Amino acid sequence: MLHIVACIKQVPDTKIIKMNPKTNTMDRASAPAILNPYDAHAVEEAVRLKRRYGGTVSVLTMGPPPAVKAIKKCIEIGADEGYLITDRAFAGADTLATSYSLTKALEKIAQSAPIDLIICGKMTIDGDTGQVGPGIARRLDIPPLTSVNKVAEVNREEGYAIVHRKLEDGYEVVRSKLPCLLSVEKEINEVPYSAMPDVIRAARYQPHIWSVNDLEGVDRTQLGLKGSPTIVSSVWAPPKPQGGELLQGTPQEQIDRLIGILLTKRELFQTGGGAADEL
Ligand SMILES: Cc1cc2nc3c(=O)[nH]c(=O)nc-3n(C[C@H](O)[C@H](O)[C@H](O)COP(=O)(O)OP(=O)(O)OC[C@H]3O[C@@H](n4cnc5c(N)ncnc54)[C@H](O)[C@@H]3O)c2cc1C
Repeated sequence: MLHIVACIKQVPDTKIIKMNPKTNTMDRASAPAILNPYDAHAVEEAVRLKRRYGGTVSVLTMGPPPAVKAIKKCIEIGADEGYLITDRAFAGADTLATSYSLTKALEKIAQSAPIDLIICGKMTIDGDTGQVGPGIARRLDIPPLTSVNKVAEVNREEGYAIVHRKLEDGYEVVRSKLPCLLSVEKEINEVPYSAMPDVIRAARYQPHIWSVNDLEGVDRTQLGLKGSPTIVSSVWAPPKPQGGELLQGTPQEQIDRLIGILLTKRELFQTGGGAADEL
């Protein structure tokens, strides 16, 4: 029986989040928190594999207490158990510290049931780095398989998985030993509406909640801000695009107007040479 752990993160909905114009940082309160869309596909794939081969799906997240909501969403998708690690000591973590904390939690989960497969999303929609999955794999010394868009086979008895990895011009088929870590693309599956029994179960479900003291052998210097060598030197929102002008009139009038506009922007062309001279 497979034991699959999907790592999931609660993120602000970046489609509607606002930037704070003074600090140039995300105003997290301005948008609802949702399950990272890539992670929904990670959980769905874990659930599909459970149905195919039998087993258990656990989900793991590091975040503040409201991240319980994201775990419940995963239970709706069909996960069996959820684990939240939450503690002030984890706050301010960059991807290095995040992967360290998650690895410590994975080691603890594995004590009760050894893990065959870890599935992550390709990336988050707020941090966007795609580093956490490979970071966990490196720390656990297991193969990281990124850009996975199909899981062809998982054979626990013989200890291997065969997956398809998306490339720019196609895909490659990779056979890896188990346990391994997959970072999955959105097109790996479609996440359907949840079944009513799963929705009811999710509403009642209480995840396992661990603080740093519940984890074993933790080096506190590798946690949170203290364990984060990344320095964000500056962040800014791109300027809003200026309104354009709709060219009107006859085709000739539109061409004349366009040339007029281009001539007023002549300096834009001068560094490139050629183009301005030809106008
Ligand atoms: C100096 C610094 C301070 C920061 N402080 C904070 C902070 O206080 N609060 C904050 O929210 N962010 C903070 N961040 C952002 C934080 O580094 C990232 O959100 C986090 O490390 C995950 O990276 P990512 O979002 O790029 O994930 P990616 O690497 O893009 O995620 C890939 C996959 O890894 C898994 N994953 C990622 N994060 C988690 C998680 N937390 N739990 C479980 N699985 C996960 C998911 O499967 C995800 O799809 C900080 C960043 C820096 C550089």
